[in-house]
Amino acid sequence: MSVYIQSPSTSTIFIPSTRGAMASSQPMANTPILPDGLTGAQVERYSRQMLVEDIGGSGQAKISGSKVLVVGAGGLGSSVIPCLAGAGVGTLGLVDPDTVDTSNLHRQFIHREADAGRENKAVSAARLVAQLNSGVKTVVHASPLESGNALELVSGYDCVVDASDNPRTRYLVSDACVLAGKPLVSGSAIGLEGQLTVYNFEGGPCNRCAYPNPPAAAASCSDSGVVGPVPAVIGNLQSLEALKVIGGFGAVLSEKLIMYDARSTTFHRFIVKKRPGCAACGLVPTITSMAASDAFCMERSLRGVASGGCAFAPRTAAATPKHLTPPAAAALASGYGRNGECGEVSALEYSAVRAQGVPHALIDVRDATQFEMCALPGSFNVPVSRAALAALLISICAKVPRYFTHTAASTLRASCSTCSLASCRAACTKLPP
Ligand SMILES: [Zn+2]
Repeated sequence: MSVYIQSPSTSTIFIPSTRGAMASSQPMANTPILPDGLTGAQVERYSRQMLVEDIGGSGQAKISGSKVLVVGAGGLGSSVIPCLAGAGVGTLGLVDPDTVDTSNLHRQFIHREADAGRENKAVSAARLVAQLNSGVKTVVHASPLESGNALELVSGYDCVVDASDNPRTRYLVSDACVLAGKPLVSGSAIGLEGQLTVYNFEGGPCNRCAYPNPPAAAASCSDSGVVGPVPAVIGNLQSLEALKVIGGFGAVLSEKLIMYDARSTTFHRFIVKKRPGCAACGLVPTITSMAASDAFCMERSLRGVASGGCAFAPRTAAATPKHLTPPAAAALASGYGRNGECGEVSALEYSAVRAQGVPHALIDVRDATQFEMCALPGSFNVPVSRAALAALLISICAKVPRYFTHTAASTLRASCSTCSLASCRAACTKLPP
């Protein structure tokens, strides 16, 4: 008997028989034996991946027969999506309601300049997948993942990758994965730091085990910036964890959280334990429906992060330094006119203030780097975190006694209602009329 060992590459190894005629009576089949569910073309295409002992034919068959939902086609998704497409995942679901934006292209490499301002990101990502690997089926979800569709979305897939960029989506997708029993590969990146873990894998912890409550102030790429390769690093690792989950190889990063510090090129690993008291996956869960998950998000006002400002009537704006410390800002406010209002303003509201020619000063609370990049004319920079903003406003309110002493209590409360910070309103209403 002679044995041919057909390697996934084009080489064939011939091994002479040592058992002579006994084996020669066995008929030789002409059709190659392939791993279940794989075609010859797939074996050829994924041969280098299948050669890895941990994966082999059975692992590739699992990968090619799996469905993965990627929530977010931004910085993280720009690595997750092509990696999973290249690896031959059977179906990729792509969720992103946003349009390609020029300011995203430094890190969202799967999109093109020509698509900026006109193309949906999920559609753009699906086009790239088609060009990269026509054997991968894509399902585009161009609307946002919300409480009303999250459970149905994740239920149709074997594994979910959270490549989103906001806390609300993180809680919604995690809760949906717990309810549907789906593993969730979670990643995030901001500035020069990133995080990675796998939730809800074979009884492991969920997002609420690690973060029972959202942080008081969450950073975003829009506010804090991000260096392109950082989400690329995390996204690549996410794709690998997703392949391990669906391919059934390696040790999945469950019950462990990796923190990546790009400044020092270090990875730190932390243990994340399942909490018996977890509201989503604990012994007596309270998040038993997506409606309950949505109520939690509404209660915590998980609507993303906005930059705040505080409008006042300035007295000597031209002579004031652009960058102020919070105490200096409060001192500055003490000399301002009586007809101002204290509170955060939206861009539209501020546009109206300028259009009406209302005397005012604009305090920009973004960090100094953002202020230096672009600032509105005449604004002052007082870099404070969102958590510290309430204290700043309270201190400013306390230093403007004339404003309050010349205002009836009812009017005071009405004007202070423009401030979105409950703590500031509470402090203002305690002041004498
Ligand atoms: Zn949990």
